[in-house]
Amino acid sequence: MSEEGATRRGRPSFLIAIILIAIALSVAAFYYGVQAYLSGEDGTFFLLIGFSGIAFSAYMLMQTRKKPLRVVFKPYQIATTLLCQKCGFKNIREFQRGDYIFRELDECPKCNEQMMIASIYREAEEEED
Ligand SMILES: [Zn+2]
Repeated sequence: MSEEGATRRGRPSFLIAIILIAIALSVAAFYYGVQAYLSGEDGTFFLLIGFSGIAFSAYMLMQTRKKPLRVVFKPYQIATTLLCQKCGFKNIREFQRGDYIFRELDECPKCNEQMMIASIYREAEEEED
C-alpha cells in the first residue's frame, strides 16, 4: 500500500492514528445519518457531523504531508576589512557599530600608518553547532 510508504517517510504515526479514528467516527456518524434519513427520521445533524468530520480529517491528513515549518533565525555575520593604504596590510574583523567605508581607524601594525575600512560585507554562512 502507498500509505505504508508515506508513513515510513517520517509522518507522525500517532497523529495518523488519531486522524484515522476521527475518520472512522465521522464515517459512522455519516452512516448513522444516512440510516436515519432512509428510515424517515431527521438525520441531518449526523450527516453534518459526519461530513465535516471527514472533511476536517482529510484536511489534517493533508497537513501532515507537508514538511514541518522550520524557521531558523540566523543573525548576519558582518565583516569589516581594514586596509593599510601604505603597505597593503589587510585585517578582517567583526563589524562594529559605527563602521563605515573609508573610516580611518587603528594604526597599521606593520608601518604604523592609519588604516582605513576598505569594505564591509556579509560573511558567507557556515554551518556551525
Ligand atoms: Zn601598513
